[in-house]
Amino acid sequence: MARYVGPQCRLCRREGEKLFLKGIRCETAKCAITKRKYPPGQFSWGRGKLSKYGIQFREKQKMKRFYGILEKQFRNYFRKAEKQKGNTGDNLLIMLERRLDNVVHLLSFAHSRKSARQLILHGHITVNDKKVDIPSLLVRVGDVIKSKNREKSRKFIQDNVESLKSKKIPSWLEFRQDALEGVVKQLPTRDDISASVQEQLIIELCSK
Ligand code: SF4
Repeated sequence: MARYVGPQCRLCRREGEKLFLKGIRCETAKCAITKRKYPPGQFSWGRGKLSKYGIQFREKQKMKRFYGILEKQFRNYFRKAEKQKGNTGDNLLIMLERRLDNVVHLLSFAHSRKSARQLILHGHITVNDKKVDIPSLLVRVGDVIKSKNREKSRKFIQDNVESLKSKKIPSWLEFRQDALEGVVKQLPTRDDISASVQEQLIIELCSK
C-alpha cells in the first residue's frame, strides 16, 4: 500500500524554512517551525553534512510534499517533462503548478493544497461549468474555475476567499470576486512559481 504523504511539519523543520503545507496553522504561533527552529529528532544537532545525493534527494522530497504528490506520480510528471521542449526542470514545475488542486489553492478557494484536493474530490469545483473531481487535472489557458452552483459549496469557498483576501493571486490567474471564479489568463512561467525548490538538483538526481 502506498505510504501516506501528507503535509508534515517535520519537513519544514528539516528544511529550516516554511513550506506552508497546513493552511491557517502556518500563519499562527502553532507553526512547528516558529516553535522550534532546529531539525526534528533526538540527535538532530549531531547530524553530519549531507552528501550530494542526500541534498538532491531532499530537494525531490520537498517538491513532492509541496505539491502533495506520490513518487509514482512524480515519476510520471518527470517523464512527461523530459519529453517536452525546453528546460526539463521548468517543464516539471510548470506542470505541477498547473494542477487543479494547486490552482484552487492559489485562487484562495482553500487554505492549503490538501484542503483544495478535498474540495475537488467532494465535487465542490467546476471547470468550464463541468463538475471535475480530478485534483491532478492540468488547467489550460482560458479555463474558468469556480465553485459548484450549490449554496453549500459557494458559502464554503466564499468564507475561505474572505479569510484569505490579503493573499496575492499570481499574475497568470485572474480572480473575479463577483462571480467567485478564477480564469487561467496564461500558463505560468518559472518566475510565477513560488515553490522554493532547486529543480536542477532534482533533474540531476532523476537523470542518473
Ligand atoms: Fe510548515 Fe509551519 Fe505550516 Fe507546519 S505549520 S507546514 S512547519 S509552515
